[in-house]
Amino acid sequence: MIARVTLEMALRKEFDYLIPAELASRVEVGSRVQVPFGARKVLGCVTTLAESSTYENLKPILKVIGAQSLVTAKVLKLARWIAEYYCCAPETALKSVLPEAVREEEAGWRERLFVRVLPISGELPKLPKRQKELWHIIEEHRQLPMKQLLELAQTTASTVRRLEDRGLISITTQISERDPYAHEQILPSQPLPLNEAQRMAYLAIKAAMDAHAGGDKRSSGNGKAGKTSTPGVFLLHGVTGSGKTEVYLQALAHCLEQGKGAIVLVPEISLTPQTVERFKSRFSSGTVKTLVAVLHSHLSAGERHDEWHKIRQGRARIVIGARSAIFAPVEPLGLIVVDEEHEHTYKQEEAPRYHARDVAIVRGQMEGAVVVLGSATPSMESYYNCFRGKYQLVEMPERADDKKMPLVRVVDMRQTLRRGKIIPIFSPQLHEAISQRLERKEQTILFLNRRGYSTSLQCPKCGYVAGCPNCSISLTYHRQDPRLACHVCGHTEKVPSACPECRNPDIRYSGLGTQKVEDTLTKLFPHARIKRMDSDALKRKDDFRRILGDFRTGKTDILLGTQMIAKGLHFPNVTLVGIIFADMALHQPDFRAAERTFQLLTQVSGRAGRGDVEGEVFVQAFTPYHPAIQFARRHDFKGYYDQEIEFREQLRYPPVSRVALLTVRGRNEEKVKFSADHLKKELDKTVADLKDIILAGPAPAPLLRAETYYRYQLMLRTGRMSLLSKQLAGLTQILHLPEDITLSVDIDPVDLS
Ligand code: ADP
Ligand code: ZN
Repeated sequence: MIARVTLEMALRKEFDYLIPAELASRVEVGSRVQVPFGARKVLGCVTTLAESSTYENLKPILKVIGAQSLVTAKVLKLARWIAEYYCCAPETALKSVLPEAVREEEAGWRERLFVRVLPISGELPKLPKRQKELWHIIEEHRQLPMKQLLELAQTTASTVRRLEDRGLISITTQISERDPYAHEQILPSQPLPLNEAQRMAYLAIKAAMDAHAGGDKRSSGNGKAGKTSTPGVFLLHGVTGSGKTEVYLQALAHCLEQGKGAIVLVPEISLTPQTVERFKSRFSSGTVKTLVAVLHSHLSAGERHDEWHKIRQGRARIVIGARSAIFAPVEPLGLIVVDEEHEHTYKQEEAPRYHARDVAIVRGQMEGAVVVLGSATPSMESYYNCFRGKYQLVEMPERADDKKMPLVRVVDMRQTLRRGKIIPIFSPQLHEAISQRLERKEQTILFLNRRGYSTSLQCPKCGYVAGCPNCSISLTYHRQDPRLACHVCGHTEKVPSACPECRNPDIRYSGLGTQKVEDTLTKLFPHARIKRMDSDALKRKDDFRRILGDFRTGKTDILLGTQMIAKGLHFPNVTLVGIIFADMALHQPDFRAAERTFQLLTQVSGRAGRGDVEGEVFVQAFTPYHPAIQFARRHDFKGYYDQEIEFREQLRYPPVSRVALLTVRGRNEEKVKFSADHLKKELDKTVADLKDIILAGPAPAPLLRAETYYRYQLMLRTGRMSLLSKQLAGLTQILHLPEDITLSVDIDPVDLS
């Protein structure tokens, strides 16, 4: 027998090794092994077992690491798909699939000394007073860690050893599991009686799970489960507060009943103790005790190791985590939930540039698991897939708790501007509303979207934004040699000296951050207790929790923040939400700019009125009649989708096509530009036979110079991405670029900057 091994080196190749007889029983697909490579010993992962190799003089595997292979054969197959589809090296894909802490050779279970009493016949023999006390403490606990005993009894290990010498206790080394949530007290929760919409959703999901359970064997063979029968993917479109989580919880319960495990993905930022608790209290407390494993980036290496192994050993059957939890070795897998599926943090912004939602769909198909995508503002991609019959759409249009949707008022900031000289931060309307809340002792959230602020050129007076005549996206303002450029097609033009619409000469904005808003706010409301929450204000790890804690307990009147506060937080006393410059994100040079704005406004609005008092939302905008703003005001997702899809269809942007973004990067701009042109010529030769291909660029990236690098981009659009990926992979292998120039390939990019 031989083993094919992917080494942890950037080689884009696999190597064959002999399996020595003494290791034969331990080497399987997914095993971590140490092998000789040249004069070195390197680590790798077994991806295939075979009878023979086409190579001669194979070297043997030196050793197997760990008792159990860490990747399941199924996850390995998924890694292979990632490498192919996202155009990256197999070893890069493999790295994502296995967390660092699990890969390390030395990381392991934490072993500790445990002390326990041994049975005695008859009376306890006469002991010195100290030892007798000690014995009673141990007996009371039956068994406890040495460390804890020493603290409790205020004694030394040698005293304890004396009891051991007398044969009264035993001291043994045992594995002690780290539990990142050990200090949280979790109260059990019972399933809620579902309302009509929830029941329909649950029943549809349950039916699919039952169908899959029956057809598992048939479908796992060809890896195309769900394609022929009813779709195994659901899009649960439910407004904020419609009770999606309860549907997930009951579907998870059904999954456990089927004897299967599940993965729940949530955006990192929503993976708060509150969220985790909702899952733990249903499954990990009271009489039912299914371990819920939690995976996120704040775990220590040791905690991560333990959580991972609990899953691999099948003890933890439910996994809740951020992006990379999609690779958790749950087996058999019955259900994957992707909450807030529209979130762009599901996309990894470094190689492998995978999108966890899309990986979830593929994994679901491979393993015959049902996939539930949930969102109040589904991505265009997912909603579109419902109409193409790929996903099943389930709607939950009402709030489960009978709370009304908040009233959304759009404030036309151009009118506020006319009254004064400077660009206003607070309209009189929002100012008045905040005052009222302070008087009534209710809380306010103010939201400032900083993304893409200074990259577009907007007239503060009339709202005009400079756009590309070819691509229907905003032009990017490049400060260094002042010009406007389209980063999709490369079109450039001069910066106008006055607004082309209203002749206002003061067309440029200066930057505006949360700091400035906070200063203004403090001046306007000197007695209010204000807290700012953005990445600058969060220096320490626990700042996030502390600030939210203070807000929750009413120690803060106004919470001011960026994206961070838009997500899943639930504060009953918040009756006002203000969005300072709602259209800031609208003019990013990105075809998803409007979609993001719509999502953001809807999500932020969802923060208001989660308690007994009806909520109110003020949206301040310079372009108040933009559809993204107007549809969000009316809570009309479908209306928004219908007009947005029209625009995407016209210009063949996703979801009607798929995008590959190629970025050429280097320190010398001329060289970067030249290389990008060279790449374009090569692409013209190779991918031209894909009939539907649209090739745009090269053009300077919106962030032309990022960290002293110049960046040029080419955007490719096609309906057949897996074909294009193959060709791109081939091309990148043979392409000759200067040494100091790098090329990155991003399939289905979400960040176009
Ligand atoms: P979503 O995840 O869709 O935003 P949540 O799951 O947070 O919504 O639910 C919003 C609120 O409604 C929660 O307080 C939840 O406990 C409550 N809720 C959900 N389902 C029901 C139900 N069937 N009956 C009563 N209350 C419910
Ligand atoms: Zn253009």
